[in-house]
Amino acid sequence: MFCSQCGKEYIDGSKFCPSCGYNLESSSSSKSNESASPILQEDLLSVKSKEKSLAVAGLINIALIGAGYFYVGKYIWGTILLIAAILSFIYAPEMLLALFVLATIGSIYAAHRHNKKLMENLLNSNKKNKT
Ligand SMILES: [Zn+2]
Repeated sequence: MFCSQCGKEYIDGSKFCPSCGYNLESSSSSKSNESASPILQEDLLSVKSKEKSLAVAGLINIALIGAGYFYVGKYIWGTILLIAAILSFIYAPEMLLALFVLATIGSIYAAHRHNKKLMENLLNSNKKNKT
């Protein structure tokens, strides 16, 4: 059998996927439940491919403060932080560290929200298809 979550093979009768820990018993029981339409593997993969890496969103701010927001697609926030960083570089360099921390935490959170929204959209569209 193959895990419906990660696609790796597992031994028949296993309760959990040895690769990703997915509860295999709940997946097999939901398959028999016709009211719940399963999320297509290709839809899940397309969502996964659009997801943003939280590590990249945070670390990219080392290169350029605010870059994490650009990476996630929050261009207004990215621009505001970048301008703030340039101004603080000229007038108040002691503020740069605070801006960097703000940008890093903010970008990671923005990436997390971005990923969450993608998954919610997938689940919502899955519900609509059902009706
Ligand atoms: Zn798995």
